[in-house]
Amino acid sequence: MDVWKRKTRRIFKICVISKGKIKLKFFSILNCIRKIHIWVLGTMTLEKYRDDIYTCNRSRCGFCRELCPVYSQLKYEAYSSRGKMQIARGLLEGIIEPDDALMECLSLCTLCGYCKARCALQNVEIFKELRESLVKKGFENKYHKKAIKSIQENKSPFGPQKEGQKSSWAQGLEFDQNSNVLFFVGCSYPRSFPQVLKNIHEFLAKVDIKLAYLGDEEDCCGLMMDLTGYRDEFELYKKNYKERLLQLGIDTIMTPCPGCYKILKSSYFNPEDDSTKIKVVHFIEFVANLIAKKKISFKKKIDMTITWHDPCDLGRHMGIFEEPRTILKSIPGIKLVEMKNNRYQARCCGSGGGMLTSNADISIDVAIQRLEEAEETGAEALVTMCPTCESIFEKAIRYTDSAMKLYDLSELLLNTCNGDTRKNTGSAKDFF
Ligand code: SF4
Ligand code: SF4
Repeated sequence: MDVWKRKTRRIFKICVISKGKIKLKFFSILNCIRKIHIWVLGTMTLEKYRDDIYTCNRSRCGFCRELCPVYSQLKYEAYSSRGKMQIARGLLEGIIEPDDALMECLSLCTLCGYCKARCALQNVEIFKELRESLVKKGFENKYHKKAIKSIQENKSPFGPQKEGQKSSWAQGLEFDQNSNVLFFVGCSYPRSFPQVLKNIHEFLAKVDIKLAYLGDEEDCCGLMMDLTGYRDEFELYKKNYKERLLQLGIDTIMTPCPGCYKILKSSYFNPEDDSTKIKVVHFIEFVANLIAKKKISFKKKIDMTITWHDPCDLGRHMGIFEEPRTILKSIPGIKLVEMKNNRYQARCCGSGGGMLTSNADISIDVAIQRLEEAEETGAEALVTMCPTCESIFEKAIRYTDSAMKLYDLSELLLNTCNGDTRKNTGSAKDFF
């Protein structure tokens, strides 16, 4: 509404003040009518980012390129944020025709948000919008298309799932299906690192907490649809899934996956615009909360120098930077050393934004670059908590014969907990 008011004022000013400039006045009004048409009918989604696109095109400062994971590998302007902003302008003005090659180019981006952290325009939103506008015109990345089709048909990006496959990690483990907190594990951890989920389950048992778990009935969160340009499909998928989740009668969702956390918290159950009041918590927030409330303390020493990798979805996109560091610093014997680029400036692992699916070779090169940065700290181990980051780092370590150890944070937590950490705890509700 504010935008409407501003625009109306601008038309009025031109009419009254700009005497003699009939032509200018006429064009300005036409321009406004065109914009009204766009707003009312929502026909041209890029249009809403026009100001940001032109701001970049005017400044062309290039700060976004410094640690852009893709630009730093390929050194080609179109892969940087600055280059994509020019592409956006070209599409907006009808100078560039969309085609398959353009879609290939736009797929080469991890949507890591480094550029946004450097420049404060709506970079990532614009790149998602660019992908969407191309998908709508029929130019699709074949790898993304396949994964999206699988999510729609199998509720998993990894193709058809056999009965019991998704939940095989949980066999023999106890859950409390009456709990008002749902453990949402995502698609990648059960497939690639089932042990992490077992660690978390064991850790929760140590603090007397049992959560509900949907098992095979847990569906993919649909994040990849949102990232790769299938926004309409995502909105429909989300609507149905959200209704199902609401019917469970839960009031909190806890997940260890940064991608699930981001989409559940920022889209499904955004605390700012959702009236359903389901709270979404990352496992790391939960543990940090236990520590803050002095409900847990770690006794067993782990003598190790480690460095923490900030997953983009957890850090830059959701602002969880200090909590993992607080947890690590509270483990006796752990020495945390920071990589040169950390927190908002952290280098991406290279696998987000659908890039591992479409361009795995470049993802690995990016991961190797981040691994080198971890090695420069002198740390013995790289610690993080994201199944996508861990998958690509595992490959990078193997490809380079690196001596760096890789840990999911849950592994260190369980290790330091062994023995004696139990302080009482009460109901799960107290800690979320
Ligand atoms: S995207 Fe931002 S940082 Fe990059 S050139 Fe444009 S204005 Fe500068
Ligand atoms: S989101 Fe990341 S990969 Fe994409 S242009 Fe920005 S810095 Fe580069």
